[in-house]
Amino acid sequence: MKILIIEDEYSLADAIAEILKKENFTVTIQTDGQKGEDEALTNIYDLILLDVMLPTKDGFEILETLRNENIKTPIIMLTAKSEIYDKLNGLEHGADDYITKPFHMRELLARIKVILKRQASLENTNIIEYNNLKLNLKTGIMSFLGQEIAINGKELDLLEILLLNKNQIVSREMLANKIWGYNSEAEYNNVEVYVSFLRRKLKLIKSNVKIKAVRGIGYKLEVENA
Ligand code: CA
Repeated sequence: MKILIIEDEYSLADAIAEILKKENFTVTIQTDGQKGEDEALTNIYDLILLDVMLPTKDGFEILETLRNENIKTPIIMLTAKSEIYDKLNGLEHGADDYITKPFHMRELLARIKVILKRQASLENTNIIEYNNLKLNLKTGIMSFLGQEIAINGKELDLLEILLLNKNQIVSREMLANKIWGYNSEAEYNNVEVYVSFLRRKLKLIKSNVKIKAVRGIGYKLEVENA
């Protein structure tokens, strides 16, 4: 498994690389934005760790280029600021996850493993559904009676878990654990953010299957009658 680290703080990049090498990953470090983008465009990596503030080209620009070039490599943003704006910006541009500096290496490692595991499971074609709402786990296409939209990353994880647990309430703790490999207040906020993304997309395809919030507990799929 090959991981590309695009991070201009060399000591941090090197520390991450050391940990990853111990886990048998092959690691490449780029400390310059443009060079990092060029490297990522080779499309040989299984995962990219992408800093935001970088010389020559920032992480969001790189993210945008990669997604525009249809590079689907999972990307975890390494963000120095905890501002919600940065987070939303990254997620809207197609990052799979983000982690706020300073972070624990074991947390980063947990997130990397969750994402790689998900990628591996995507290799198997699978369509799961609930009342005409279908999700193709391989292509990430969510559809409702002929209307479709692509979802990816955490949105895909979220809908997959809700579909696999249809007819029951899924707790936010379970969602946080399964999606982020971690269970904390910050992850609960993430769950909320992704639920709102997903609701918007369900609306776009005119799905009558909605995500119902069960106050203080979690979420559940529900069919809304017209
Ligand atoms: Ca930086």
